[in-house]
Amino acid sequence: MKKYDFIIVGAGPSGIFAAYELKKNNSKLNILILEKGKSIKKRVCPKRKTYSCVDCYPCNITTGFSGAGAFSDGKLSLNDHGEVGGNLINYIGKKNYVKTLKETDDIYLKFGADEKVYGNSSDAEIAEIKEKAIKCNLKLIETGVRHLGTEKAFEIYSKIQEELENLGVEIKFESPVKDFIVENGEALGVECKDSKYYGDKIVASVGREGCAWLNEMCDRHNVNTEPGVIDIGVRVECDSAITKKIDDISYESKLVHYTKTFDDKVRTFCWNPRGEVSEERYEGNLALANGHSYKEEKYKTNNTNLALLVSKNFTEPFKTPIDYGVHVARLANMLAGGKVLVQTFGDFKRGRRTTQKRLERNITEPTLKDAVPGDLSLVLPYRIMLAIKEMIESLDKLMPGFASDGTLLYGVEVKFYSNKIKLNDNFETNVKNLYALGDGAGVTRGLMQASMNGMYFAKKIGE
Ligand SMILES: Cc1cc2nc3c(=O)[nH]c(=O)nc-3n(C[C@H](O)[C@H](O)[C@H](O)COP(=O)(O)OP(=O)(O)OC[C@H]3O[C@@H](n4cnc5c(N)ncnc54)[C@H](O)[C@@H]3O)c2cc1C
Repeated sequence: MKKYDFIIVGAGPSGIFAAYELKKNNSKLNILILEKGKSIKKRVCPKRKTYSCVDCYPCNITTGFSGAGAFSDGKLSLNDHGEVGGNLINYIGKKNYVKTLKETDDIYLKFGADEKVYGNSSDAEIAEIKEKAIKCNLKLIETGVRHLGTEKAFEIYSKIQEELENLGVEIKFESPVKDFIVENGEALGVECKDSKYYGDKIVASVGREGCAWLNEMCDRHNVNTEPGVIDIGVRVECDSAITKKIDDISYESKLVHYTKTFDDKVRTFCWNPRGEVSEERYEGNLALANGHSYKEEKYKTNNTNLALLVSKNFTEPFKTPIDYGVHVARLANMLAGGKVLVQTFGDFKRGRRTTQKRLERNITEPTLKDAVPGDLSLVLPYRIMLAIKEMIESLDKLMPGFASDGTLLYGVEVKFYSNKIKLNDNFETNVKNLYALGDGAGVTRGLMQASMNGMYFAKKIGE
């Protein structure tokens, strides 16, 4: 029976950067990647043609080579302070963070990422937004952004898949891992539907899509975890004229607000100037709102979308933040016939359902064509609703018109993170030879940090 040096579960950015770096540094390593979804070239979302989700299983937007990265907006946050896209800096320290950021960015550049970095506008321009933001009780987190764009991200990850195959990394698609093989506190391999694979080191890099499964595995194999946060909110869409001034300077503005009523943290996330709102499907056919934008002019829309996320940290005895998020999302799906729900901000404020008729005459035309008009107040817990309303009102002072009646709210957007897995400096769990990386491990929340996590892990383990 063949035994691998590394078995990597999940071919998202964290898994593929780990495989790439491992193989580049030691061509003799036998590496197997097991991925639930398809090879990148076969990843097609029928919705692009049908405008309506046809419930592929598994979802082509979130699974397959490069994971949630393939159809993402491809915004790589180049923030040296580790403030954007996860907590990796807390695991590896500032010095390693800065070094790994540069090395990972260089790989994206090598595979064809655009040289241009947004958000490095003149100090005077940034200072102006920052000052305005402060006056509206908003903190601007400064970060450079390399924007791949959805079509370019797909091209870059296609080249990485080819490179990994050329380097001799074995990749098995449509191979969801069902279980880890663990004996006496040591991981020996993994089990798929029809086969078992054995390896010296098992790496779980299953992303948010696989986090419910990973939680189950942690319970089954006594992997130590701690409750994670959950980010819950809406995707907001408005006319791009409203955000243009800010977009031209910083492209992706990261703004944080602590609300007046409950002092809850709300942040902007995944800001897509002239982009489109999309739907993502998770395990159990859960429909969630998301968004992205294309780089080429011909694909651009007249709307800007961004997520407003309220971060909730739960305390004892509550241990299941994912279930909480799923329940809220299910409520929205239940009211919207299994689709994403949309409401105008005018109706949201007035506490009434948006009707098809009012949506049709709304000034801002929805870019998610099959979103179903409804009422978010029947879905969101009171303090989350209020936090979103207060955040929109603060943003309106920075970008007048943002809180107008025609602004659209899509619900819900939830960012699931596994209960945080307790990891040592090598990203190893308390189960010997079982490692965990990326969004699924609760370490990262974005493309750049997930890729960096894979890269750093590979270097560290090879030392
Ligand atoms: C629509 C969209 C837009 C986004 N835009 C941006 C952006 O612009 N900038 C940004 O920084 N981030 C963005 N993100 C987030 C970003 O894509 C993720 O943070 C990143 O992909 C996480 O990488 P990962 O390797 O941890 O996991 P993932 O990319 O989620 O990959 C995990 C992989 O594991 C596989 N898997 C899961 N369970 C199993 C199993 N049991 N067996 C085998 N395989 C399994 C999945 O199929 C998946 O391919 C976006 C996400 C989405 C969905």
